[in-house]
Order: sequence, then structure tokens, then C-alpha cells
Amino acid sequence: MNILVLGSGGREDALSWRLSQSPSCDKLICAPGNPGMARWAERLASLDPCDADAVIALASEEAIDLVVVGPEAPLVAGVADKLRDAGFAVLGPSAAAAQLEGSKGFTKDLCARANIPTAGYVRTTTVTEGLEALEKFGAPVVVKADGLAAGKGVTVAMTMDEARAAVKAAGDGEMVIEEYLEGEEASLFAFVDGKHVCPIGSAQDHKRVGEGDVGPNTGGMGAYSPAPVLTDELTERAMDEILRPTAETLAEEGMPFNGILYAGLMLTSDGPKLIEYNVRFGDPECQVVMPRIEGDFAAMCLAVAAGDMETLPVIELEDAHVMTVVIAAQNYPGTPKKGGTITGIEAAEEDGAIVFQAGTAEQDGKLVASGGRVLAVTAAGATLAEARDAAYAAVDKIDYADGFHRRDIGWRELERVS
Ligand code: ATP
Repeated sequence: MNILVLGSGGREDALSWRLSQSPSCDKLICAPGNPGMARWAERLASLDPCDADAVIALASEEAIDLVVVGPEAPLVAGVADKLRDAGFAVLGPSAAAAQLEGSKGFTKDLCARANIPTAGYVRTTTVTEGLEALEKFGAPVVVKADGLAAGKGVTVAMTMDEARAAVKAAGDGEMVIEEYLEGEEASLFAFVDGKHVCPIGSAQDHKRVGEGDVGPNTGGMGAYSPAPVLTDELTERAMDEILRPTAETLAEEGMPFNGILYAGLMLTSDGPKLIEYNVRFGDPECQVVMPRIEGDFAAMCLAVAAGDMETLPVIELEDAHVMTVVIAAQNYPGTPKKGGTITGIEAAEEDGAIVFQAGTAEQDGKLVASGGRVLAVTAAGATLAEARDAAYAAVDKIDYADGFHRRDIGWRELERVS
């Protein structure tokens, strides 16, 4: 089959890498892609993945059988709907179902209707209502501006002063005020074909820029899969109490979900509770989940897109542990320093690691940094400690003077196992 991957980050590089290894993948095109993705896919750098008409024109021209949508923006913009209307198979939900990620209020209301465990909440539309709602919960409390805010719309306030300041700073507009949940966070990924839900791996990531999980939030500085805190028993509970009822409710209400459902869970003393949904893979979690999926991944994606996942054999996950370490450009998550030269990728990959690319570009025949998160250096091992050693051995072979990375990815889990 001919496959088109939309997107240009480390997540899409990992997806393309995995799809390219599938026996049923004949031709792989990525758009706009990045230089790393050009290693396994034909690259069309000029395409805007949010421009549905341009995507449809490309898919027709290239006789595409399956479109895999990496990032959330084209989904929320309805690109998957338009592709489906034009007759293409798409791994990625409709704009209606993508509200799970695009609107926190939508997701909280759905949880309430379907009795899905999540933090207690109040939806508000003005600063006055927001301030009143805070009183109901008391500190600590969480203030969330509605809509896609790339992680910047959320304040976990430990004091009422902090909470009030966050409500005032957000101003009038849709907001969710919610109960603070205590526990450890983990992510669970699942294929959803409209009716059936099948788990395809768990992960934990490190969002803060600094070692010890301090400093500003980033898109993610590293991750590992599986997340051992999410035991088989907790995974089953999350599937039964959270993901399956979500898919069922959306289908009953006429907006079936098709694609990758990513549940951000808080593992509380009362069991797993939903913090948020994303309607696509996480980045960098995708980089650690892809190497663990066995079998013909492209065929699985097509079955999901076609709504007949039931015909699939059980999806097997490799027993290995996988870690990815993100190398970012200096000053990230502020304005990153661009243009730094990167070498050593081949050497880093000699012992089996894979260096996925994100913010990279080619300039005068050299690979240079062009964004905040630049590389995701990924390696597997029989244990998490082995995966960590292999990932950092690979990181150390990369020569990128303007980059930085955290040396402590996986620390919490590694401390637990030692
Ligand atoms: P992102 O997509 O970057 O994770 P977001 O804007 O979608 O961010 P959420 O995922 O809802 O926002 O929240 C961001 C973070 O805030 C969570 O990962 C979690 O650490 C914390 N958080 C959110 N809700 C709660 C809660 N009810 N109790 C405790 N912490 C929370």
C-alpha cells in the first residue's frame, strides 16, 4: 500500500520509520517531513498539513491508500473528515471526536455523562465565575483555560493566591476549574477503530526542562516505555473504566473515534483517573512505543482506519524497555538557538540506537538545528537501565555543540528498580 504521513516532528519520524519496515508498505511519503524522515520516506517539504485541499490533491496524485496524521492541528482543523469524504482511509479522528483534545470542557462533560473517573470540575466562562468556583474546591486546585494551549493553559495552584492570579490572568472565556489529583502520571496509548479499543503501549515522559524535573515545561525532554507503574491490572482498569466507555459514548453519540487515543492518567490511591486525552501519539512517547510494536504496523493502521480492527491478530508488544533522550537547542523552551551543526548520527546508530529527527534542516550539505527539540536518541534494552545506558552511549557520540539534554531520563523508575 501507499502511505502518506502528515507532520514533521520526532513523532512522525518514528511513525515513518516503523511504517517503512512493514511488509505491506510499498511507498511511503511524508509531508512536510524533515531530513530524518527522508531516510525512510519520500519527502514533500512544501505541503501544509492543515490545508485539506492540498493534502487531498497530493493523496490523489500519489494513489495513497492510507493517510496517517501525526499532529493534532490538522485533526482539530477537520483534515481527516475532508480526506474521508474524499474516499481516503485515514488514521486520525474527525474534528468532532478531536474535541477530546481540543476542548477540555467537552472531555469533562463526556466523562460526567459516561461516569468515567476524572477530577471533579466546574466549567466557567467569566473571571467572576472562575473565582467563585475556586472557593468550592479550595487549594490545591487546578485552573485550565479551554482550547488548545500546548500545555501553557494549565496552572496547578498550590495556594488560593496562585489560583486566583491564574484565573485573572486567563481573563473572561471558557475555563475548567478542577480538583487536584495526587499520584503518579502515566500515558496509555490505544488504537480505536470507531468501535473497538486495543491498547498499544504505555509510557512516562519528562516535561520539565531541567534535571530532577525542575524549570519550565517543554514538549517533553525524554520518555520510556513501558511505564512499569501502569501494571497489567491498572491497564485493564483504565481500559474498562476510561478508554472503552469513552469510545462507546462517542460512537453512541454519533461521533465515533478513529485513530490513536492517548490517555494521560493519574494513578491515584483510588485507581487510574483521566487527566486529559490527546487524539494522536505523544512526542516523544511515540519514539519509545514504535520500537515495541511487533508485526505489520502498516496493516494494523489500515485495519483501524477501515473500522475493522476485529480482523487483526492480537497486537504484540516486544518485552524490551525503550528510552528516548531529547537533545534540544540551547535556550529551549524559550526561543531556541538555530543553525548549530549536527554530526555523529551514524556513529550513534552503530550499536542499534535510532536517532529520530525533529527540528533539523539541511543547509549547504550539513545537518543543522532548526527548532527547539532537535533529536530524539532512542535505544532498547532488556531492562530500563540497559536501555538508558544504550541511549546515553548514543547521545555521547553526537556532536552538536549548541544542544543540551537531560542526563536523568527515567530517574524515578530507575530509583524504584534499584
Ligand atoms: P499537555 O497537553 O501539554 O499535557 P494540557 O494543556 O493538555 O497539557 P493537561 O494535560 O490537562 O493540560 O494538564 C497539564 C499537566 O498539569 C498534567 O500533565 C498534570 O501534570 C497537571 N494536572 C492537570 N490536571 C491535574 C489535576 N487535576 N491534578 C493534578 N495535576 C494536574
